[in-house]
Amino acid sequence: MRPAEIKSVLNELQLVPTKGKGQSFLTDDDVARREVDFLGIEPGDTVLEVGPGLGVLTRFLVERAGKVITVELDRKLAAFVQDRFGAKVEMVRGDALEVELPSFDRFISNVPYSISSPLIFRLLEHEFKSAIIMVQKEFADRMVAAPDSDDYSRLTVSVYYRAKCERLEQVPRNRFWPEPEVDSTVLRLTPRPPPFHVHDEQFFFRLVERLFGQRRKKIGTVLKKSDFLRPEQLDGIPHLDDRVEALSPEQIGTLADIVWERKKGTSPR
Ligand code: SAH
Repeated sequence: MRPAEIKSVLNELQLVPTKGKGQSFLTDDDVARREVDFLGIEPGDTVLEVGPGLGVLTRFLVERAGKVITVELDRKLAAFVQDRFGAKVEMVRGDALEVELPSFDRFISNVPYSISSPLIFRLLEHEFKSAIIMVQKEFADRMVAAPDSDDYSRLTVSVYYRAKCERLEQVPRNRFWPEPEVDSTVLRLTPRPPPFHVHDEQFFFRLVERLFGQRRKKIGTVLKKSDFLRPEQLDGIPHLDDRVEALSPEQIGTLADIVWERKKGTSPR
């Protein structure tokens, strides 16, 4: 949809786009078509879309998917999408971070940037075949960062453990109306078996969260302050003098197993 068309629909709906809800609408249909191509929909697939807005992606989804389910927070936009596509779309009106997500094969979202991070963590708790997500460029950089770079983060490690993450396309800010203050990147996530084994996933993720809370500190310093182990149990643990941000996901996995083993041997604290 061109900006003029978007403006006139929003006028009719008496809707003023808000930054709070991340309401910037994609004006380039070719970008939308490519996003849906990248998703690789197979016949019979159920596709979940978060934040359809005026339906720029939804339009291509209903042509190809077995079933399309959309989650939209905005009452007026939810009604608009429901009217536009009728029975071809099952609409869940609500907050994608709160509502119970139905099961789905593929996921797509030009996601409101304020919820990128929690939405992706939530997404990764589900089983699915592929996901296409448009995020702020800087956020995409963090998702695919290498160890020891400024962008390497808790997000990088958590995503890497569960999925392959590819940057597919840069989308400049002028392809949206109203124009946001940032450029965007289209990402594809493809879940795969973890590239390394850990004894206890829950503990691994807890440790990752804890470590990246102080990513410039030394591992030993962070572990000493954590309640995972008593100080005397730190003897012989690897990487104590390395900074958190220098460790690869695999090294953090090994560290998690060692800490977990020692912790298991002691009474719960
Ligand atoms: N996908 C459309 C719209 C992008 S704007 C496009 O590319 O043009 C972001 C959309 O997400 C808006 O429709 C907004 O109302 C919706 N939204 C914002 N926060 C949401 C949330 N927490 N859950 C579901 N939808 C949300």
